Amino acid sequence: MPFKTIIEPFRIKAVEPIRFTTREQREAALAAADYNLFKLRAEDVIIDLLTDSGTGAMSAAQWAGMMQGDESYAGARSFFKFEAAVRDITGLRHIIPTHQGRAAERILFSSACTAGQVVPNNTHFDTTRANLEAIGVRAVDLRCAEATQPSLIAPFKGNIDLAALERCLAENAGRVPFAMITVTNNSGGGQPVSLANIRAASALCRQHRVPLILDCCRFAENAWFIKRREPGQAHRTPADIAREMFGYADGCTMSAKKDGLVNIGGFLALNDDALAAKCRNNLILTEGFPTYGGLAGYDLEALAVGLREVLDEHYLEYRIRSVEYLGEKLTAAGVPIVQPTGGHAIYIDARAMLPHIPQGEFPAWALSCALYLEGGVRSVEIGSVMFGRQPDGTEKPAAMELVRLAFPRRVYTQSHVDYLIEVILSVNSLKSRIRGVHLVEAPPLLRHFTARLAPVGGTLLA
Ligand SMILES: *Cc1c(COP(=O)(O)O)cnc(C)c1O
Repeated sequence: MPFKTIIEPFRIKAVEPIRFTTREQREAALAAADYNLFKLRAEDVIIDLLTDSGTGAMSAAQWAGMMQGDESYAGARSFFKFEAAVRDITGLRHIIPTHQGRAAERILFSSACTAGQVVPNNTHFDTTRANLEAIGVRAVDLRCAEATQPSLIAPFKGNIDLAALERCLAENAGRVPFAMITVTNNSGGGQPVSLANIRAASALCRQHRVPLILDCCRFAENAWFIKRREPGQAHRTPADIAREMFGYADGCTMSAKKDGLVNIGGFLALNDDALAAKCRNNLILTEGFPTYGGLAGYDLEALAVGLREVLDEHYLEYRIRSVEYLGEKLTAAGVPIVQPTGGHAIYIDARAMLPHIPQGEFPAWALSCALYLEGGVRSVEIGSVMFGRQPDGTEKPAAMELVRLAFPRRVYTQSHVDYLIEVILSVNSLKSRIRGVHLVEAPPLLRHFTARLAPVGGTLLA
């Protein structure tokens, strides 16, 4: 197209009103929620960027598909549509539906792993790590060197460290049930993994006779970055690139709440016949019969359609560009963010932005509260409230104090992003007034979800 404005590649047919709040109402809501954004009522939020998981908008075609859901217990027509859609993209032999990503993980890990084994990954997502550790498997993160420098601009900061992978496979020969690669690397800032990196990792795994499993929650966003950034890939369609990515793998786990464009769903796909049989038996125990796996027939219909829509180039361009546009505006205004912008989220570096707040007073948590107070924006702290408490009960500051703003798919438009920019810049202009927070009461595990906090000195903005 000769015009440079990237428009939302959809018209809006059903709308959900945003409930506006005043500054006074938000102050009261924040205090009532114990300065914990997880405890707010969603209705008290104007722009909700807590997560991109399951929060997307479905298309008319998906809603229409749902009316055709076949709710037969076994062998439903909807299952075969779903299976064909997944196989078309992944090329994998056995397709097993699950209610979300972590169910696919639990079923695969409990079928394929035993205590004392080791699983390498570029970076394990938290549920992936927890499901491995729950059965005594050591989850090893092998992120590439560029990944540890937030301000460094590099095209594929999600890559796995190949030399470290080779060492891990050699040192743990016979104890690695499979290796994993997460695309895009969620915990590493939504950064993509290159085709060359997946190809090389796959070759190493084959040499060591270790299967390679993709955690493919954001496979379409990863394919788009490959198209844009990897030499020689610009002419290919995202679907073609995705097929090549999956071609290097022996299986995958998927949370369809991300690039499945559905509100609930997931799957596990495998080539190994014996392992797939074991996983199906495991599935029957906790999720359901292998042709529905804990989902309704209509969920499988919506997912089959979503998997095709997510590979649309106009959709991917709009999505990735929205995040990049926000990143450019923030960077130009001097707001420190993790570079370059990833696929699904922006990460503000709160330690760089609020150097006057010591890490023990949770600068990223304080910043996320200030964004809510000023503009009704909900984000999430990825810092020392989330990660600071050690298993032995001591405190150790997290490596970074980040505020993540994750974008639901097809939900917000350019003007929402422009509003967001205004809010962040306004908070940036009064940053010296933001005070830290302290824990009032917190459970020992996963404390960020339920902890009670309060501002140091009684007020968040001095
Ligand atoms: C969301 C996510 C999961 C877990 O999926 P759920 O659907 O939330 O259970 C696993 N891996 C990655 C990379 C994810 O982003």
